[in-house]
Amino acid sequence: MEYILETDNLTKKYGNINAVDHVSIHVQRGEIYGLIGRNGAGKTTFFKMLAGLSKPTAGQFTIFGEPASNTVKLRDRVGVLIESPGLFNSMTTFSNMKIQALSLGMNDDGYLHELLNDVGLSGKENVKVKKLSMGMRQRLGIALSLVGRPDILLLDEPINGLDPQGIVEIRELIGRLSKERNITILISSHILEELSKIATRYGIIHNGQLIDEFTHQELLKRCSERIEIRPSDPTKACTVLEQMGITEYKVVDQSIIQVFERLTESGEIVLELAKNNIKTLSIAVKNEALEDYFLSITGGAKT
Ligand code: ATP
Repeated sequence: MEYILETDNLTKKYGNINAVDHVSIHVQRGEIYGLIGRNGAGKTTFFKMLAGLSKPTAGQFTIFGEPASNTVKLRDRVGVLIESPGLFNSMTTFSNMKIQALSLGMNDDGYLHELLNDVGLSGKENVKVKKLSMGMRQRLGIALSLVGRPDILLLDEPINGLDPQGIVEIRELIGRLSKERNITILISSHILEELSKIATRYGIIHNGQLIDEFTHQELLKRCSERIEIRPSDPTKACTVLEQMGITEYKVVDQSIIQVFERLTESGEIVLELAKNNIKTLSIAVKNEALEDYFLSITGGAKT
């Protein structure tokens, strides 16, 4: 498998704090990769290293298979919106775009207008940034990150502080950029529910460590309705399930079997297991909300 971006044990220490601790992620071209973590999990630090804004303490990463060891090379390929966009508030929307373009050695006003149109800011070219709404400023931040025609976009918490309408607009914009411009997007958030509407793959970061990585299909499966059985003999129980014609199941922690089909037949399953001398230590129908799932793997209450 060829990855557009791959990190290998990327690590950042601040004194004795492991802000990012041996994180290895794999991002394929065209993916929208959602990096989920609670406050202080290490998302911003991770993105800063990918953007060349912070030097890793250890580990490395590659972009298009090439070691990303110098920031000049990176700047061409990676667009960045980290924390709040660095905007000149008393200048107009277009002037902000122009400054960004000049700093990258570009001089194509037509392209800048096209980008503003893409992010839904056409007509706002001559409006001073301080008069834009928070959602518009965030969209301008995304337009700025696109000026260098990047292949990869890093968006750190782009929906933070936006109202529901603003969130929908940013989500639609990200979906469009992915489809129409074929940009690979890494987006961080502390809200799994929000990212689940656009991301194709997820990485969960907790206390600086990547504790899980899974696809959107896998997430749907993990949160979908299922029967959870804890049998006395899980291996034998799987054979019994297969004899019953059940194929949609998964063994978790070598002790729990999750069954994703025939959800109304838990009684029959218990009976069939008993006939085969397998005790059912517990059985329940479960269906987790995304945020509950997130909390269950990162532990404890939301911060
Ligand atoms: P948030 O969602 O709150 O922005 P985050 O997931 O982006 O959090 P980071 O900002 O990357 O997390 O912080 C990870 C850890 O590193 C935290 O414990 C933070 O206090 C610490 N940290 C971040 N930047 C620095 C720094 N410049 N100096 C010292 N510690 C830092």
